[in-house]
Amino acid sequence: MRNGKLPTGESQPFYFPLDHPMMPSWFKGMETIICKCGLWPAGGLLAQYPNFYCPLGRIDCCYCWLLFLQPDFVEQKPLLQEFIERCSHLCDFYPKYHCEMNFIEQY
Ligand SMILES: [Zn+2]
Repeated sequence: MRNGKLPTGESQPFYFPLDHPMMPSWFKGMETIICKCGLWPAGGLLAQYPNFYCPLGRIDCCYCWLLFLQPDFVEQKPLLQEFIERCSHLCDFYPKYHCEMNFIEQY
């Protein structure tokens, strides 16, 4: 996972540094990332809603949604797409359905 961006535009590594005394190279965790972004609500936040049923219309209900909607997460392309585009090709994802129904099978 590449670094994220703080609201100030600064880079935010998602992993602790190699020389960290307790957790070298470990993922910092969503709570730490949210706190560093200054988004931690005063009343705390659920890691996830029970059975992943978040209340409709809320965007700050849990760790997942809060991070999922941050600009640096929204702008992140899949690694495969980045690789394809870096090779000067177009990347076009098709909807998921049976492979025999894919239009490329008609050619
Ligand atoms: Zn939620």
